[in-house]
Amino acid sequence: MNLILFGPPGVGKGTQGARLANDFDMAHLAMGDILRAAVRDETPAGLEAKQYMDAGQLVPDAVVVAMIEETIMAGNGHDFLLDGFPRNVSQAEALDEMLARHSLKIGRIVFMDAPKESLLKRLCGRLICRACGFGFHRQYSPPLKSGCCDRCGGELYQRDDDREDVIANRLEVYHEQTAPLLDFYRHREGFTKIDAGGEMDAVYAALKEAVNG
Ligand code: AMP
Repeated sequence: MNLILFGPPGVGKGTQGARLANDFDMAHLAMGDILRAAVRDETPAGLEAKQYMDAGQLVPDAVVVAMIEETIMAGNGHDFLLDGFPRNVSQAEALDEMLARHSLKIGRIVFMDAPKESLLKRLCGRLICRACGFGFHRQYSPPLKSGCCDRCGGELYQRDDDREDVIANRLEVYHEQTAPLLDFYRHREGFTKIDAGGEMDAVYAALKEAVNG
């Protein structure tokens, strides 16, 4: 089954999505990770995307739609979980068109939500491993050794767009452009909303139930 996970920045899509994709044998296609890899590799799309990402704005639809289609197709029919795509209604329409063209279907659409205060706290303290991408939090899930990934020993860093001024932009962009997706998807078969404001394991249990349900 293919799945869409959406919700505000900091709600835990990346962390929970990775765990879910692993447990249900789906490819975890995180649009932000795909874009960061393109920026790091200095591809033409990455060079174009960087300025938008640094400012907390959405990268133009044409760029992300082409990238996600290429990534889905590279999976050769393996089930996938979309995390961070679509992020506005025109991307959702492009996704519908693309899925129909490739005879693919989405089985579940899960909307994760949490209060703004917890999103801010999660984003401000977030640390990511440069080597394996695993996420930590200064307060809620600190690494055993400061600055060092528990899993692989890689260096931990704070994303450039996890600075307070950029976070404010990202949340505004979310409310203006991504939140309308809720009306776009809420009546679709397989749609579920979960409360993602609680503890990590409780949120994961709710997510799993939504996927199994
Ligand atoms: P994320 O890692 O999901 O928080 O995404 C980081 C940044 O990548 C966002 O703030 C946007 O600049 C960009 N981005 C990620 N997904 C999309 C998307 N679907 N459409 C446009 N820009 C995106």
